[in-house]
Amino acid sequence: MNNQDLYTKDKENYLPTFNRFPIAFIKGKGSRIWDADGKEYIDLLAGIAVNNVGHCHPKVVSAIQKQAAELMHISNFFVSPQQVALSELLVKISGLDRVFLSNSGAESVEGAIKIARRYAHKHGKGGKVISMESSFHGRTLATIATGQKKYQEGFGPIPTGFAQVPFNNLKALEEAIDDDTAAVILEPVQGEGGVIPAQKNYLKGVRKLCDEKGVLLIFDEIQCGIGRTGKWFAKDHFGVQPDIMTLAKGLGGGVPIGAFLCNEKVASAIEFGDHGTTFGGNPLAAAASIATIETIAEEGLCKQATETGEWLKDKIKELIKDHKELESIRGLGLMLGIKLKSPGAPLVKRLLEEGIVANATAGNILRLVPALNVSKAELQIFIEKLDEILVETKTTA
Ligand SMILES: *Cc1c(COP(=O)(O)O)cnc(C)c1O
Repeated sequence: MNNQDLYTKDKENYLPTFNRFPIAFIKGKGSRIWDADGKEYIDLLAGIAVNNVGHCHPKVVSAIQKQAAELMHISNFFVSPQQVALSELLVKISGLDRVFLSNSGAESVEGAIKIARRYAHKHGKGGKVISMESSFHGRTLATIATGQKKYQEGFGPIPTGFAQVPFNNLKALEEAIDDDTAAVILEPVQGEGGVIPAQKNYLKGVRKLCDEKGVLLIFDEIQCGIGRTGKWFAKDHFGVQPDIMTLAKGLGGGVPIGAFLCNEKVASAIEFGDHGTTFGGNPLAAAASIATIETIAEEGLCKQATETGEWLKDKIKELIKDHKELESIRGLGLMLGIKLKSPGAPLVKRLLEEGIVANATAGNILRLVPALNVSKAELQIFIEKLDEILVETKTTA
């Protein structure tokens, strides 16, 4: 079936929650993907910051194949060597003490909120969780309660015990924290909100404030973690350690897996039966995750993401000089956002026609989150196409 046939069939049966492009992808290798009509694309979205080691990395593929043939799933009533190894790796690279494995981002945030509340209640405090405006933590009921209002419309009653303050505003946070507050949750680099990094002094200030008030600090590194910003975690740019951290997206190299990690202080409040999962961290997903993390380490992909990100930023800065449509570029490593003068959707569509996959978030931010091992040659093609498209829209405008 070609793109159009698949698109039509999809519309017949799938819930209309996504406004999909009439393109069906059937194959991927590194940063190249192919659609059902045989057209090749350069992927600068990487499954929304998921395919951090590129599509179908041989090491990840072979780990999955091997594990699938040996043992895919066993309940969490038993120990699994893959989970043991993955937990050890995550503790080592994060500097946190304990791990819980889940299946997705939202589920990891839910778990993080639960253990934060458990800790707070054990210490005689309320369960309020303060999040940031323009944040994104998922689409489950509790996670939409932390997020943007637009995702809450029509889904009431929304869980209570949540409050929001502006991001990068320490004073607003200080005023919002009260005796009922269990935790503060934030993304060190906001993703869906438009690729907005925290200000350095802000995160340090938040940490200090949380310590003074006895409030837990949760970092949601679901999008900005796993090498995305050129370090294992975005927190490492800021030298700030949270009490709890959530992961997903890039963690499994394309296989669904999430995690939340915490320090021993939080872990000490958790007892047998406090949380659980059927699938979370099963041998298949854990094997994929180990292979992904090892690949990032062995191939020096954090360093490569830093270098490539700097190079790309410079190239885009040159384009900004030539094109009024481009306002500015921001972000860290290979988590970049180009601010546009107008909504990004038409540009995203034109790029797709030219064989480039990118996306627009927060309306007018063109988001670039390619694989950490994307080549400069591939990015150069993007730069040239973008330049051409902007020239052409200028002359037709
Ligand atoms: C994508 C994302 C989530 C939600 O992850 P899902 O796997 O879609 O549930 C949560 N937080 C952040 C920062 C994200 O980018």
